[in-house]
Amino acid sequence: MSTPAQTRERAAPAADSCAERVAAIVRPDVHALSPYRVADARGMIKLDAMESPYDLPAPARARMVAAIASAAVNRYPDGNPDVLKRVIARAFGVPAEAQMLLGNGSDELIQMLCLALARPNAVVLAPEPTFVMYRMHALFAHMRYVGVPLGEGFALAREPMLDAIARESPALVFLSYPNNPTGNLFDEAVVREIVERAPGLVVIDEAYSAFASRSMLASACAFPNMIVLRTVSKLGMAGLRLGYAVGSREWISSIDKVRQPYNVNVLTQAAACALLEDPSWIDAQSARVLHERTRLERELAAIAGCRVFQTETNFVLVRVADAARTFAHLENRGVLVKLLDGWHPMLTNMLRITVGAPSENDCLIEALREAALA
Ligand SMILES: *Cc1c(COP(=O)(O)O)cnc(C)c1O
Repeated sequence: MSTPAQTRERAAPAADSCAERVAAIVRPDVHALSPYRVADARGMIKLDAMESPYDLPAPARARMVAAIASAAVNRYPDGNPDVLKRVIARAFGVPAEAQMLLGNGSDELIQMLCLALARPNAVVLAPEPTFVMYRMHALFAHMRYVGVPLGEGFALAREPMLDAIARESPALVFLSYPNNPTGNLFDEAVVREIVERAPGLVVIDEAYSAFASRSMLASACAFPNMIVLRTVSKLGMAGLRLGYAVGSREWISSIDKVRQPYNVNVLTQAAACALLEDPSWIDAQSARVLHERTRLERELAAIAGCRVFQTETNFVLVRVADAARTFAHLENRGVLVKLLDGWHPMLTNMLRITVGAPSENDCLIEALREAALA
């Protein structure tokens, strides 16, 4: 340890010499990235991140507070939290024959999958446009990422997908089911065909299952090369950071080997156990979100120059004549949405708008009506 006097004597290095070192030492592909930016939403109506607009109901919050009050934060968390797994299984209908792996959000599970499968020259394949973290974690793990454009109406392009699978032999295929950011649910027959033809693991990412008409969770062990990912983030618990992977014992115990021993912290475990012990509030809130989604779709479709695409998620997808202008107009009115324009050619002039609480949606509708969209 240096004394304060010694510390003072040592001049801080100039910022540009640090920058030089960083540029010379950090991986070039990482150095070239721009950091994941989260928009400053203070004072805004926040409709950009697929969060639930609803607070916890009082009884659920009381259960959570009581559980956290007695949490043993002096101890490391339960490294293999069987109690929480049982609670999750019961709350969300995980099949009895399946095993589970918990993550610090399903983002961490995506990362673990890439780490575990990143043999030299391994490929990650996904339809495009889709969830950007598949590409990011593939890059971090030194895997090659192959994107296959979606077809008409954002459907899976069956032939190009099967051709790419035959050509690339991907170690990992990610299917966001429903797909973020297009919101649609892929044809189940095509998904099953992809699983059957894929030589590697196919991951069905069901982050939006609560708002979708179908799920593959019941089939999580029906194929030797498929697992299902879920998260509580879109169900009013984004702040907990908790995701789960469901699959056969063999897959789950293999991916588990790259997990950090204490990846789900004590407070998250305690809170999630308490909140999911009686999950009826989740269904009630999801039903309200679905009701509001239907209303938003109807109201927005009635605005001249606003084209609405059907989704099975907690967001609506619209195309306007000049999405950047509309985004700025909404921002001026205090409404933050996601500007998709520029992400992918298929998303030109599109906005992704998370379903908010009724009064928030009213503000959005009002602000869109007064914007000249056409
Ligand atoms: C939101 C989202 C996730 C990430 O969920 P976390 O559990 O919050 O990390 C994963 N996949 C898709 C498709 C998502 O939209």
